[in-house]
Amino acid sequence: MNYVSAHDHDDEFDPENPMGKPEVPDHVQNAIRTLIEWAGDDPNREGLRDTPKRVGRAWLEYCEGYKEDPAIHLSRIFEEVGGYDEIVLLKDIPFQSHCEHHMAPIIGKAAIAYLPNKKVVGISKLARVLHGYAQRLQIQERLTAEVAQCIWDNLDPHGVAVVIEAQHGCMTGRGVKTPGVGMITSRILGCFLDNDSSRKEVMSLMGY
Ligand SMILES: [Zn+2]
Repeated sequence: MNYVSAHDHDDEFDPENPMGKPEVPDHVQNAIRTLIEWAGDDPNREGLRDTPKRVGRAWLEYCEGYKEDPAIHLSRIFEEVGGYDEIVLLKDIPFQSHCEHHMAPIIGKAAIAYLPNKKVVGISKLARVLHGYAQRLQIQERLTAEVAQCIWDNLDPHGVAVVIEAQHGCMTGRGVKTPGVGMITSRILGCFLDNDSSRKEVMSLMGY
């Protein structure tokens, strides 16, 4: 049995933080306390006492995308595709992001398609690219464009199409308060942009 003295448990097991969760610095906790007060509540009441810490940690997770370059997920490429030269489509990919104007949740789903040019990736990697960009402060238009561009730059495909459909907490919960209203954005590159029948094909596969 190892005993850890109260004075030197900095790098060791901390009984007050048994899961080793990230520390939330005082200035971050104070900022959240200020926000609770601003919203009209008492940050010192029992139910809110640990909220600044929890919120601090939650935001680290919401914004995990800042820690990575999403292109990393497209670095394992398969070139032996057995002559497959049709559209690859992943649809109904759920995601969560936060709008950069209100830091309110954006909840939606994406459809991501590309027409390979010899290079393909494991299908789950497309979702990882989406999440890498979604887990940041975003606007839906830029999220859509970034996902499409990342696939375009890293797979050299003939075409890319990304369609995102999402609800914005800043519209459903405040302002015009319109629950159920969704926003659709798309970014289309390459042959899906230049060729009418390719575009129609990918859009109908996506269900649009
Ligand atoms: Zn917003």
